[in-house]
Amino acid sequence: MTREEYALALLRSCYGYDSFRGQQWDIISHTLDGGNSIVLMPTGGGKSLCYQIPGLMSENGFAIVISPLLALMNDQIDALQQNGIPALALNSEKSDHENRETVELLMQGKVKLLYISPERLLSEIDRWSTAITDRICLFAVDEAHCISQWGHDFRPEYTQLGALKQRFPHIPVMALTATADRITRDDIAQQLNIPDAKLFVSSFDRPNISLNVVRGSTGRQKLRQIVQFINLHQGESGIIYCLRRKDTEKMAAELTRLGIGAKPFHALMSAKEKQQVQRDFINDDLKVVCATIAFGMGIDKSNVRYVIHSNMPRNIESYYQEIGRAGRDGLPAEALLFYSYGDVVTLQQFARQSGQIQVNMDKLKRMQQFAESDVCRRRILLNYFNERFDHDCHNCDVCNNPPERFDGTRLAQMALSAIMRTDQQTGLFTVTDILRGWRKAEVIEKGYDRLKTFGVGRDLSVPEWNAYLLQMLQMGLFDIAYDENNHLKITEYGQEVLYGRQTIQLSRYQRQGFNVKKRATATIPMTTNTTEVSIASKEMDRELFEHLRDVRKAIAKASNIPPYMVFSDKSLQAMATEKPTTQSEFGILYGVGDVKCQKYWRPFTAAIREYQGSR
Ligand code: ADP
Ligand code: ZN
Repeated sequence: MTREEYALALLRSCYGYDSFRGQQWDIISHTLDGGNSIVLMPTGGGKSLCYQIPGLMSENGFAIVISPLLALMNDQIDALQQNGIPALALNSEKSDHENRETVELLMQGKVKLLYISPERLLSEIDRWSTAITDRICLFAVDEAHCISQWGHDFRPEYTQLGALKQRFPHIPVMALTATADRITRDDIAQQLNIPDAKLFVSSFDRPNISLNVVRGSTGRQKLRQIVQFINLHQGESGIIYCLRRKDTEKMAAELTRLGIGAKPFHALMSAKEKQQVQRDFINDDLKVVCATIAFGMGIDKSNVRYVIHSNMPRNIESYYQEIGRAGRDGLPAEALLFYSYGDVVTLQQFARQSGQIQVNMDKLKRMQQFAESDVCRRRILLNYFNERFDHDCHNCDVCNNPPERFDGTRLAQMALSAIMRTDQQTGLFTVTDILRGWRKAEVIEKGYDRLKTFGVGRDLSVPEWNAYLLQMLQMGLFDIAYDENNHLKITEYGQEVLYGRQTIQLSRYQRQGFNVKKRATATIPMTTNTTEVSIASKEMDRELFEHLRDVRKAIAKASNIPPYMVFSDKSLQAMATEKPTTQSEFGILYGVGDVKCQKYWRPFTAAIREYQGSR
């Protein structure tokens, strides 16, 4: 058996996967040859296998995995143990007795993967006998960007890790991160003492996440669209990000009132409350979490099916990180961003109050351009991250619904004339009220209801006007005077249009429809291998899938682990597609390794047989 055949056999028997993804095998074989490496892969790309397989392949040895977050460490170990892989951790949460036992097992060569924090490793390794150190086959440094002072997650403990290479020059080091910029990358190589490290850069595209933006919806309209969206995703897990704490509470309350189980999550809740929400979400007891940005760090739930941004995030980095929490299992997932003028104003205020005004304003501008763009959204994102992506993705709202252009000169003249007649003393909302002929207090008070333009734009809905006014603002027909209560000021270009010397084109507002059917049968343009895709494109029995989800939940409850650790959604889909009724049929499915096959084939095949018999 060649080395690669052996690796593939392990992949099948331990994880239930049929082939390596992308560069996984290249990375593994480089490590087996003793080479150092820096691995850049997006979240969900499959980093863990790159260091787990070398650990498994080493005859009497083990791989050390250095990781900063205890919660993630425990999560990974639980998942590995579910697959029957001997993985253990040394950390302060365990008793001295447990930790001593772990060291004993290491000495006997009975462990394949050891998870440990950087500070613990450095304080401990000098005390280890050669019976242990001779067995180390790899140092894997997870979340390696923590080493860089320039990064967003600097951890001083990480900077000491360079000592490892000095002490053990022959043991390969693998640094892994989902942060892609060059400074971080150089820092990693330098600080870990691995200037010769081979760089493995994967695409940062997440092709299974469909990207969608809704412009101009606010208030009730937005809530209605969110409810409609969630109802099309019944039984699925999702996160709704809001800008402020009070928005998370309001959103959760509104949804709960409408019969959708949702809870808020924000920084001011107690640690206990936060833990409870996380736990319920992970265990599928709570489907929707309305959160500020604090939610999602350190949770490894693979079946989050959608991420909604109820407000626009402050920059593209945050946006990408947040939508990245959806669809880590590689199955179709959705990102839905609501973008309105009010958010831009609030975010600009945040940016102006921040320490780095210029940088934050620029980043906000890029985010805004993304939301307003009429070109493929994935193109914009990947280009922003300096990745060449020169085709349309066919999995974003622009690709699926190319904007229709029309002559918007008349609409612009209505708006501009309304602004002009108020002596440029109103903001965007009041202009909309005037155009729509809405007699609210401020309008009456200032006599705007007697203007010639009052009600001329009655034919268009509020979201339509919001969307068009945004486009006009973006085109530069008028400007917002931040130092004058955000009143609108017509520019020179705006005057040209107002007096008919220039015409403008607008892209037609499209009422957003959410079509979940389309998603269930759509084939995802995967960059990964074909066996992984085939499951998604075959016909799946939706009802059986729901049924199996209940079976999974019951098993998870009984063994006190999260449902996704029993099987991923993808494995359940494979079951609901292939409908195995015997152990051997069950054993070849995606994600069913030897240990899980033994443990679970009975309850799942029984459920399938019973389901088929009842029809
Ligand atoms: P990362 O650590 O890069 O965020 P993970 O290692 O958690 O990503 O992998 C994401 C998901 O993809 C996991 O569910 C993992 O089991 C799955 N996966 C990784 N490699 C493969 C593969 N070769 N075949 C099938 N599934 C894979
Ligand atoms: Zn696209």
